[in-house]
Amino acid sequence: EAKSAGRDRLRFFDPAMQLAQDQRMVLETELRLATELGQWRLYYQPQVDAGRRMVGVEALLRWQHPRLGLLLPDDFIGLAEDSGLILPIGLWVLQTACAQLKSWEADPRTAGLQMAVNVSAMQFRQIDFVAQIKALLAVSACRPERLKLELTESLALDDIGDTIDTMLALKGLGLHFSMDDFGTGHASLNYLAQLPLDQLKIDKSFVAKLPGLAKDETIARAIITMGLGLNMSVIAEGVETEAQRDFLGTQGCDECQGFLFSRPLPIDALQDYLDEEAEPEPTA
Ligand code: C2E
Ligand code: MG
Ligand code: MG
Ligand code: MG
Repeated sequence: EAKSAGRDRLRFFDPAMQLAQDQRMVLETELRLATELGQWRLYYQPQVDAGRRMVGVEALLRWQHPRLGLLLPDDFIGLAEDSGLILPIGLWVLQTACAQLKSWEADPRTAGLQMAVNVSAMQFRQIDFVAQIKALLAVSACRPERLKLELTESLALDDIGDTIDTMLALKGLGLHFSMDDFGTGHASLNYLAQLPLDQLKIDKSFVAKLPGLAKDETIARAIITMGLGLNMSVIAEGVETEAQRDFLGTQGCDECQGFLFSRPLPIDALQDYLDEEAEPEPTA
């Protein structure tokens, strides 16, 4: 007893650990206020087809923090999930994405774009998630077919029966689904094939060493073959080089997303990207 209390006390006075703990608590307090203080930003990363035409975007969350600057999800998503704050934050993301989709409808150049949104397990498992999406669609009046939810393998397999039910209900509304970071989880192919997915997204860890690393070439090729064979589209994330794009394109990968085309952009910069895309290519 006394011994473990002593150990606890020692641990409590570890200055580095105490500092980390304090910082975490401060950050959680700030996270709690971020929504009402309007500190969330949605960035959009283009997704392009084989002809490099932008066919959609992935919405990626950033936190415009007053002291720390623009924070990336890795800095706060874990905390948001642990604290349950991912629910209101995730709702803000979906609202913002739907409003953006709606405003794109007015311009023929953007009316056909798809919007991919990342969804956390806690969000997806809410008993009223389908009702929330229905309400969002009604309020925003955006076209449901333009909205694509990105799920992860661990989320999908956690309760596959429930996952399929929820997916089918949302597909009934018109939504699409993509399996994010595909290949990094431990889903059996049999389970995956049961899910009503529209798209597989090859994780960037398999893209990084293409072409050249035989193992990753084989994995990428297998994912593409499987996706296309199951009537899904296949997109690769983390495409940074022409050589990667060429390899993926040759294997039949429909779409690419990555720094080769564009970093995630705030909405104004995305508009500039579209304007440049619309200009005729200079002939070499
Ligand atoms: P993800 O969904 O797999 O998103 C792709 C990540 O790869 C993004 O990181 C993106 O900026 C980055 N990326 C894009 N192109 C390249 C490239 O060519 N090379 C490299 N090395 N990286 C590239 P980001 O924006 O930091 O997001 C990290 C993760 O945070 C996302 O991974 C997603 O799981 C999560 N996330 C982002 N936004 C949301 C959100 O609104 N809700 C939830 N629940 N999670 C989100
Ligand atoms: Mg994603
Ligand atoms: Mg991903
Ligand atoms: Mg990823």
